[in-house]
Amino acid sequence: MIEASIPVATDAISPRRDAPLTPGATQLGVLGGGQLGRMFVHAAQVHGFRVAVLEPDAASPAGAAADTHLCAAYADACALAALAAQCAAVTTEFENVPAGSLRTLAARLPVSPPADAVEICQHRAREKTAFAAAGVPCAPHALIASADDAAAPALAALLPGILKTATLGYDGKGQANVASPADVAPAWAAMGGVPCVLEQRLPLRLEISVIVARGRDGQVVHLPVQQNLHRQGILAVTQVPAPDVPAGTAAEAVALAQRLVRALDYVGVLCVEFFVLTDGRLVANEMAPRPHNSGHYSIDACDVSQFDLQVRTLAGLPLVAPRLHSPAVMLNLLGDLWFEAGDVAAAAPRTPDWPGVMSLPGVRLHLYGKAEARRGRKMGHLTVTAADAATARAVALQAAARLGLPAF
Ligand code: ATP
Ligand code: MG
Repeated sequence: MIEASIPVATDAISPRRDAPLTPGATQLGVLGGGQLGRMFVHAAQVHGFRVAVLEPDAASPAGAAADTHLCAAYADACALAALAAQCAAVTTEFENVPAGSLRTLAARLPVSPPADAVEICQHRAREKTAFAAAGVPCAPHALIASADDAAAPALAALLPGILKTATLGYDGKGQANVASPADVAPAWAAMGGVPCVLEQRLPLRLEISVIVARGRDGQVVHLPVQQNLHRQGILAVTQVPAPDVPAGTAAEAVALAQRLVRALDYVGVLCVEFFVLTDGRLVANEMAPRPHNSGHYSIDACDVSQFDLQVRTLAGLPLVAPRLHSPAVMLNLLGDLWFEAGDVAAAAPRTPDWPGVMSLPGVRLHLYGKAEARRGRKMGHLTVTAADAATARAVALQAAARLGLPAF
């Protein structure tokens, strides 16, 4: 890894913005230094691209893997100029980068996903408006941006509900349950009075997600439908093929995600999370303008992973439909595993039993290189692949037991 802060001449800016970039000859850029950026770096490097990461944290998962780490804020004008000078195209690994940075870069070189779409995904109300505009069903909801909004009698129809901050929520953070009309104003005040969305609590049978990728030429491909189990608002387990999803529901979810990616005139990888309700209906929960935790299995179980798709869409290279070559189960590895069970405050540190899980057939360990384990922090994941779904699940249950994770 090279720390660079001054622009260096590039040998390889594409003369035509729409021409495919040449693997092996160019550098790609990514805004953000988290694990999604790290896995993008790995995929890009496999294709022969060099990668520059813009990330203010000097010790980040993606920065450690990149060819070049520009250590600066995402809106730093000098750093953005350096990134544009060094790279042939730029992407992002998380949705909360300043959209202005993407626009600044887009004036100089190809950027995907587009700033407009990222900006929509940054705000839950705008996101729901985009769902509705594309004909994708979403939860009944209301924007709460003032004390008057919080006192509106019409909110009663949305209760019991979940109050969610409109921006910056992830892994269930910035959310509160609201049971009665009198609870709305105090819950909103407890959120600091920031703009929020009050969403009706829906009766979920299960949760699924669909990852689609759309190229510069408008071609759309997708990964198989993923069935997701959340614990405490955080993704815990993904199973593919989705064991409990009827074929018709899966096909409908894919069609809705395709409709959305086209309506947004999107280029890049987009993940759409859906609820499957107890009556079988599909409701879009949220979307992510990037690869998604629920798609990590694709690295080990598909011939084209979600990160390969991000590379291809960014570089303007051909898209081919990914093929799932093995059933897969992904287990998220949160920082909790690095502490002995028992009293949370006093728990002693420990190292998870890696040899124990790696002795199981078909297990692949991915750790993101984060120095400090904290509860709820995503430290890595395990993918279990097998010749059939029943075996993948059985081995994943064994792995979970050896790590002290609950069964699923
Ligand atoms: P992410 O890390 O996926 O961005 P987030 O913090 O944005 O998460 P959501 O996806 O909105 O949070 O919600 C987290 C989880 O809470 C969902 O996966 C689902 O299990 C539950 N949940 C959210 N909204 C609803 C709802 N309207 N009805 C029922 N359950 C819900
Ligand atoms: Mg979510």
